[in-house]
Amino acid sequence: MDLPASLHPLSIAAAPLTIDPQPLRLAATCSLQQVLEAMAVASKTCALIYRGPTLLGVLTYTHVGQASSYGVDFRQTTVKNWLTAPDELHLIPGDGISPSPPLSPQDYWPLLTPTQHWIGLLTPEGDYKVTPAAFLPQPETGSSPPPSPHLTLALKGANMGVWDWDLLTNTWILSEESEHLLAIAPGNFDGRYETILNSIYGEDRAPVQQALQTAISQSQQYDIDFRVMQPDGQVRWLLSQGRVFNQGSLPARLVGITLDISEQKQIESELKLQASQERLVREIAQRIRSLLDLDNILEQTVILVREFIAADRTIILRCTPDISGKVVQEACVEGYPTMLGWSLRDPWTVQEKFLAQYRRGRGLAVENIYQQGLTESQLLFLEYFKIQAEIIVPLLQGQTLWGLLIAHQCSHPRPWRNSDLQLLQTLATQVGIAIHQAKLHQRLTLMNQQLKRMAYLDGLTQVANRRRFEHHLEQEWRRMTRQGTPLAIILADIDCFKEFNDLYGHQAGDHCLRLVARILGRAAKRSGDLVARYGGEEFAIILPGTDLKGAETVAENIRQSVRNRRITHLGQHTIDGILTLSLGVASCIPGLATDPASLLKQADGALYIAKRSGRDQVRLADNLTSLAAEASD
Ligand code: GH3
Ligand code: MG
Ligand code: MG
Repeated sequence: MDLPASLHPLSIAAAPLTIDPQPLRLAATCSLQQVLEAMAVASKTCALIYRGPTLLGVLTYTHVGQASSYGVDFRQTTVKNWLTAPDELHLIPGDGISPSPPLSPQDYWPLLTPTQHWIGLLTPEGDYKVTPAAFLPQPETGSSPPPSPHLTLALKGANMGVWDWDLLTNTWILSEESEHLLAIAPGNFDGRYETILNSIYGEDRAPVQQALQTAISQSQQYDIDFRVMQPDGQVRWLLSQGRVFNQGSLPARLVGITLDISEQKQIESELKLQASQERLVREIAQRIRSLLDLDNILEQTVILVREFIAADRTIILRCTPDISGKVVQEACVEGYPTMLGWSLRDPWTVQEKFLAQYRRGRGLAVENIYQQGLTESQLLFLEYFKIQAEIIVPLLQGQTLWGLLIAHQCSHPRPWRNSDLQLLQTLATQVGIAIHQAKLHQRLTLMNQQLKRMAYLDGLTQVANRRRFEHHLEQEWRRMTRQGTPLAIILADIDCFKEFNDLYGHQAGDHCLRLVARILGRAAKRSGDLVARYGGEEFAIILPGTDLKGAETVAENIRQSVRNRRITHLGQHTIDGILTLSLGVASCIPGLATDPASLLKQADGALYIAKRSGRDQVRLADNLTSLAAEASD
């Protein structure tokens, strides 16, 4: 790839240059704009730029040709000839590029140096030819003395290469170390820009070219890193820095150094990778830690870890104290057999020597299962699940090995990196914390549920308490109102219970209350039904969607069940020497005209009648009036 001709003054071969017997002559103090304007006004295709009597360059509309390279003064040769008599010119014989067939000197105007080296031709056709590098005058080194042996040694010791690009002749000079760094066989460098470019890794060529061009065109520092492919196929990172040296106002040389920075690059990329992995681990940990449900935590862990290290399968093995385990979670690439639900007594995963390691929180990375000296049966087991490489990290709960987080590579053995194991261990620690949190949360939830139950339950009988009864009645009242269906209430009161306590003691009384509550619970078993302890030895039952008849059946059923239980009660007013219940039943279709309190009141009234009528009976609220009359008799 070539430099743009504008960057390389002598390479204007491609640009036609019409020879003008009276070229435009301008002073170097003119700006480029002024030169171009002057050319346009004078209708000239080229201009010669002078500083005093010295010709500095030839300028066409497209190119600037710097005539005075390395201090060459053209006054004695080309310029004079160009401007005056062409027949005074002559070709230097033996130059290697003499035109064939040889042409008369009048047709070719050589550009000569004072030392009679020629560097180009002006032809009537307008070509300004540049001679090959081999014929070019070498840069004059007189001004820059050869490097001292100390400097050479220092450069070598630092693996630093030095280079020098002569922009006027497009020739490069490389130090031995530079050749070595650019993977050019020692002494084989041909000085060509293309050779330098070809040694650079494909992708990096364009940026290097760009950097060189920018440095030259803007007289900036050149500073870039790029890769070079070594003969052994390895890639080496180089840093190249340099600066432009001008001759007059035009860039003449780019000189710099090249350093091997492969190691630094590798550390840099490892650090970058590590940082990005650590960031990812933090994110994963945060996501897992935000979960409170254990199943969810484990499920997310296997999914995220599998994605994170691009494993084929990740599992969580829940460990039991007897060192066996069960696969309780899995994330697996399709096509590999699932391990979910497997109980493992596999000595490979839980071998004693590894156990101690796991308990200390340290994991294990296996690159290739066939290089572990495993037994036939162990290998068979691993082969069955297509496991070729694995990483195992412990999940600890305090000192206890709660489980193992395991990643499998099934497609091929895998040389895990140290960082893989470390990051997985970090993650496992976080998962351990999440598991602990989940356990605490589970306990808390359970306790909250208990508290809630306690707030609504009667401690003695374990049926709903009065608060819950009222809440439920409100709810069902509204529901039945919406549905337009009846709601029934049964109030049940143990007969002669004071006497029961007196006869058999308070504890027996409590026991009796529990028994009755159970019988009531069995009788009201439809969803929405609710049995509550309404007061001392009085119970209330809510029966949504039940009319008076239906509720009467339930109440009668209860009364009979209590009788059938034949709890001895040899009180003065008891019937048949057993414990009995009196029940009052009321039902209505809830609506705006009624409220729960009035329904309760009706049931209470019915109960009152049942008591007054001799106990051990069910009374309904619809014939309350007649019953009240009956009772008052
Ligand atoms: P009646 O047939 O008219 O209902 O008479 P009763 O004796 O059952 O009614 P009363 O209201 O006079 O007495 C209720 C008794 O229930 C008083 C109390 O000792 C007893 N009682 C209330 N709550 C409890 C309890 O939690 N445990 C026990 N063992 N007895 C209770
Ligand atoms: Mg009673
Ligand atoms: Mg009572």
